Amino acid sequence: MHCPFCDAPDTRVIDSRLTPDGKVRRRRECVGCKERFTTYETAELNLPRVIKSDGRREPFDEGKLRGGMMRALEKRPVESERIEGALQKIKDALMRGGEKEVPSRQIGEMVMDALKGLDRVAYVRFASVYRSFEDVSEFRQVIDGLEREP
Ligand SMILES: [Zn+2]
Repeated sequence: MHCPFCDAPDTRVIDSRLTPDGKVRRRRECVGCKERFTTYETAELNLPRVIKSDGRREPFDEGKLRGGMMRALEKRPVESERIEGALQKIKDALMRGGEKEVPSRQIGEMVMDALKGLDRVAYVRFASVYRSFEDVSEFRQVIDGLEREP
């Protein structure tokens, strides 16, 4: 979206929310002149494309996201509704963000956050795969991090 003040091509979304009539109200800040403005956009609630670590772009794949979470949650005592709820929250956040492309890393962090709230074993499992732990000390760091939290 072009800045209406200086016509710079890049603006940053600071806040977005859905309005009751199904539009998306976004506060934007121009990357160039730092002016802020509000847009009302028809809700094109598309999921962003995913930027892989090697720079390739892929369409968002919900099955992949669910698969990764399910593998981490295998045989863990977590109700399906809670898992679906967590997935929906991630998708909502991505759609509200309104970015066209999002690094896969950012989605991975969102999954980690979600799993932390669902089940700590699943969280550590996911972290170990996602961050490809090389040795036991990296496991320990994650677990120590969990123990420090209230
Ligand atoms: Zn500007």
